[in-house]
Amino acid sequence: MLNCMGKPKRAPVTGPCSYCGQVRELEPEHVVPEALFFDKSQAKAIIPACKPCNREKAEGEGDLRDYMITSKRGRLHPVAQKLLPQYKKAVRKGASRIGKRAETAPIIPRVTAEDIYLGYNVLGDFDDFPEMERSLRYITRGLHFHETGAPILPTTTVDIRIFPHEAYPAVVRDFDKTFLPRRRILGPDVFSWQPLGIESSSGKTGWVLRFYDGVAVVCMTGGTLGLPNPPRPQQRFVFKKPQGRRQKLSRDLRDFGLVSLPPEDYLSFLFESMNEGK
Ligand SMILES: [Zn+2]
Repeated sequence: MLNCMGKPKRAPVTGPCSYCGQVRELEPEHVVPEALFFDKSQAKAIIPACKPCNREKAEGEGDLRDYMITSKRGRLHPVAQKLLPQYKKAVRKGASRIGKRAETAPIIPRVTAEDIYLGYNVLGDFDDFPEMERSLRYITRGLHFHETGAPILPTTTVDIRIFPHEAYPAVVRDFDKTFLPRRRILGPDVFSWQPLGIESSSGKTGWVLRFYDGVAVVCMTGGTLGLPNPPRPQQRFVFKKPQGRRQKLSRDLRDFGLVSLPPEDYLSFLFESMNEGK
């Protein structure tokens, strides 16, 4: 049989999906989203997956790209620089969830329960972008399949922690010391991953994902990372510039990488983008 291009039509392949394990019609699925690359052919980690999984994973991939290419460190990467004009166009059309959120989100000072000031947060916590988080879970599970040929089914938990940009050099240094030989890189360091340990019998695996050599995400399947959760913003807090002991504490916390802030910075960046188009 020929398709409309006059090429032989490929017979549909049926088999177990790498994500959900169900026997369905399969299609090639890019574990690392093509959207992250300028040269799409560099998205080389491909596994077989069913259409529903493929589609669900794709829902958060735009957010993921926008989040990463506008992050303080990620946006310095040459490939992010090439993708930024597309992002800016999407922001102007109101088609970027991340862009929309950055425009409308209130600037919230973040403090701990002990009233320690942690800086500002604009975008909100990572879990305010459920589609993006879901895509990251898919990516983690897809990388596992890519490495081992065995699926991690959706019933297994995937704990994800995105590290604030201040923490990136330290995170990367620590993981490189131990796991460098296992780092796999796609494109000019657009995306890389390091398996931190795969204990297939228990389904427990750990991963470091790096985006644009600027954002680190640590993922664990079948368990929890045991890292402190970033504190939730408290609306009642009246912002006072921390001084004395509190200032030192907030600086210490920041240096430990407990603060997530693209914030003021992010807004000014977005503002520049909006004006450029006028
Ligand atoms: Zn599936």
